[in-house]
Amino acid sequence: MTCREFIEFIEDYRSGKLPEAQRQAFDLHLGKCPSCVCYLDGYEKTILLGRKSLCEGDDRIPEEVPAELIEAILAARKKGE
Ligand SMILES: [Zn+2]
Repeated sequence: MTCREFIEFIEDYRSGKLPEAQRQAFDLHLGKCPSCVCYLDGYEKTILLGRKSLCEGDDRIPEEVPAELIEAILAARKKGE
């Protein structure tokens, strides 16, 4: 699994919709890719922030957080190739 695939399937992974084989590939990738661990962490936090904002009636969405993380992951991947 590549970082790009990881990001594509992250929502299915979180909601438990990912087939077992793919979920294992996901966990495997998480085990060897600190960038994606970081991304998943940021993703969860972004969702929590979004929910919190909704609860508080604040519609500010922290869009800049995932965009930066994606760029960091893609840059790290380029270096590794
Ligand atoms: Zn990765």
